[in-house]
Amino acid sequence: MGLRTGQQYVEGIKNRKHAKIYVMGKKVTDVTTNLFLKPSVESFKATFDAAFQEDTRDLARAYSPYIGEEVNRFVHIHQSPADLVAKVKLLRKLSHKTGTCFQRCVGWDALNTLYIVTHKIAAREGRAEYKERFMKYLEYVQRNDLALAGAMTDVKGVRTLRPSEQPNPDAYVRVVEQRDDGIVVRGAKANITGIAVVDEVIVLPTRAMTESDASYAVAFAVPLDTPGVTVVVGRQINDARRLEGGDLDGVPYMAHHEGLVIFEDVFVPWDRVFLYKDWRWTGPLVEIFASYHRQGYGGCKSGLGDVIIGATQGLARAIGIADKPAVAEKLAEMVFLNESMYSAGLAASWEGVKLLDDGGWWVNPMYANVTKHMVARFPYEVAKIAHDIAGGIVGTAPSEFDFKNEEIRHLIEKYLQGVPDIPTEERLRLVRLLENVSVSVGYLVESVHGAGSPAAQKIMFTRLYDFQKAEEIAKSLARVKVTVKWPKEPEPRRPSEAQKT
Ligand SMILES: Cc1cc2nc3c(=O)[nH]c(=O)nc-3n(C[C@H](O)[C@H](O)[C@H](O)COP(=O)(O)OP(=O)(O)OC[C@H]3O[C@@H](n4cnc5c(N)ncnc54)[C@H](O)[C@@H]3O)c2cc1C
Repeated sequence: MGLRTGQQYVEGIKNRKHAKIYVMGKKVTDVTTNLFLKPSVESFKATFDAAFQEDTRDLARAYSPYIGEEVNRFVHIHQSPADLVAKVKLLRKLSHKTGTCFQRCVGWDALNTLYIVTHKIAAREGRAEYKERFMKYLEYVQRNDLALAGAMTDVKGVRTLRPSEQPNPDAYVRVVEQRDDGIVVRGAKANITGIAVVDEVIVLPTRAMTESDASYAVAFAVPLDTPGVTVVVGRQINDARRLEGGDLDGVPYMAHHEGLVIFEDVFVPWDRVFLYKDWRWTGPLVEIFASYHRQGYGGCKSGLGDVIIGATQGLARAIGIADKPAVAEKLAEMVFLNESMYSAGLAASWEGVKLLDDGGWWVNPMYANVTKHMVARFPYEVAKIAHDIAGGIVGTAPSEFDFKNEEIRHLIEKYLQGVPDIPTEERLRLVRLLENVSVSVGYLVESVHGAGSPAAQKIMFTRLYDFQKAEEIAKSLARVKVTVKWPKEPEPRRPSEAQKT
């Protein structure tokens, strides 16, 4: 089949026969017409349409050597640093079109992670079964241009206990039965982006495991519409605006959703199992996935930053302060914060490393973690400056239904107008866009927690930074110690787990 259009994607997820999907307490069979989920479908759809639109076509397509044809980049295996750069650029661009998270990155990062891990297991241990299964699955995904969710985050129960030590043995997804034809899994994954509107879900372990956790060391893929799968879709701030039938208060009327996906003794055939009981590989797997995902945030969050900066400048113009030096200074700060995240994402890509003899392009783990750590901080700062410039109206504007009420419209138009040549409606539209994007889960909470909480990145930088080497460099200049073994690289760096295995 090859590349799918957005409409073909929508047709493909229409009717669920097995999976139970709940939204606001009600079971949903057609996710494409459900008003709560529709904005999420629209946003996901944008990733398919991008492959056919003139301005995104080149970024959104890539040649797959595995099936010998062009595929949507969201199912592509990176073949070079240039591919990693294209990922970051595509994500920035798609944020401009959606104004929200478009939900397809986690599954993409899961594909690239499994490509590397299954190939490494084959090369290092001579066990090719995972690689063979994965490559068949990859071909299937690429030929059918599937929408994938990536489910890594377990519900985790008591955070300080390992999976096998939990009072609830199902706090991490685990294998409860091994059969001749496959395995049976039980457990739940939380906060899973786009989960109700995908074709398939790829499940990965969420942390490094020990031998006692072996039955939790499992990676697999299943169609979402599989018996035993239940999805409970989460709420977000301002989500009821989707149900109101308006065209202003909920702009941009595209959204993402997250959900709790529960596996109640779900059967997974062997050809969909990509890691089983190989607990030693969970550490590298998590590191590879997390770094891919952290790199990507430099693209999508800077894209949302552009939307916020643009709306802020428009609002400054609407109230006649755009040319004031204090405003220009604040806008410059927003640009600095935004472009810092993007630059780090690009550095993580151009400085990508090859983890396999044949391909296996991974990001630079230090820069990917730095990118995500900036993302965990800077959007809050950008949002604060935007709210400062926009004024209190960003939290107090009347609803569009007041604005559309002929009895009071003329009053709102008169009293909420700033400079005479900018209509009040333009100001209100920009206010709503700014509010909906800058206070959103996608711009704030996801920036902190997506791809791991900020502590997870700090752990990674401190592992990767060679403090010993840095101390030796300093001591040599201070003439405390003169015999330094100079490394070839300019950076004091230790190899990551993924590079060592
Ligand atoms: C909008 C959004 C979208 C997401 N999308 C996806 C997705 O598509 N797929 C996916 O797999 N995941 C997804 N996630 C989940 C995300 O990866 C997790 O939220 C993140 O890893 C943090 O896990 P947690 O939410 O369980 O928080 P916790 O891990 O419980 O963290 C809460 C706090 O506890 C601290 N903490 C945790 N453990 C310890 C410990 N042992 N000792 C001391 N402190 C500790 C953390 O540092 C943090 O400060 C998404 C999250 C969000 C918010």
